[in-house]
Amino acid sequence: TALIEMRDVSFTYAQADRRALDQVSLSVGAGDFVGVIGPSGAGKSTLAAALSGAIPHHFTGELFGSTLVDGQDTCEVSLTDISHVVGSVLQDIDTQMVSSVVEDELLFGLENFGVAHDQIEGRLARALDTVAIPDLRKREIATLSGGQKQKVAIAAILALRPRVLVLDEPTAALDPASSKLVFETLRTINEDEGITVVVIEQKVALLSEYCRRILVMNEGRLALSGTPHEVFAHG
Ligand code: ADP
Ligand code: ADP
Repeated sequence: TALIEMRDVSFTYAQADRRALDQVSLSVGAGDFVGVIGPSGAGKSTLAAALSGAIPHHFTGELFGSTLVDGQDTCEVSLTDISHVVGSVLQDIDTQMVSSVVEDELLFGLENFGVAHDQIEGRLARALDTVAIPDLRKREIATLSGGQKQKVAIAAILALRPRVLVLDEPTAALDPASSKLVFETLRTINEDEGITVVVIEQKVALLSEYCRRILVMNEGRLALSGTPHEVFAHG
């Protein structure tokens, strides 16, 4: 059964003259690892915003259709409720992260989420272990590499135990080796923690190697969906 379902979703940002999403229908199964690709302006970030509830709860505009997350229509539940199911790592992690020290970044989210005090240390340590940065726990975020920062941002969301992790171009600022490490981390999260992953990514080689399914966005539409083999064989 689908963990995420979008039915005929169209969205136009306030003041924009064309649809950022145009009749998008898709479903993502529990445990899936989905990659989203497409040119700049295709609607990928808007799709991520719809999945995380930022649309309709944060962005204003004209919305048609429905997005169901774990069976709940994102229009009918609060952003807080949605965030217990879908965790998202924004494109600009420097604006998403609020603390100067790694462990504080994770603590901030856990405390904000109202996680019981006796669970906080366990969740924090496990999240850092999962993304393989337990040694960075006491480090200043500003001194970390781009790849390390990305892992901190992922760990901070992971600690909140969402069922779905949505990431908007986590490798955009990274070299090929760090990009691969981020995808290895996503694979661990998907396979070992059973978390559904939806990742916006431009690098075809990474999508081919790690994703089970690819969505191609173009001009707000879902242009193509299939296995990496099916999608990339189309050229
Ligand atoms: P990307 O194409 O990689 O998603 P953009 O440069 O399009 O990134 O967008 C960066 C930020 O600017 C995002 O927060 C996006 O929502 C916002 N943005 C993009 N286009 C517009 C626009 N026409 N008006 C206002 N904000 C926009
Ligand atoms: P992508 O992530 O594929 O680059 P986006 O979802 O960022 O595409 O953008 C899709 C369309 O929506 C673009 O035309 C972009 O300019 C527009 N857009 C994105 N964010 C905003 C915003 N906050 N306000 C107005 N228009 C936006």
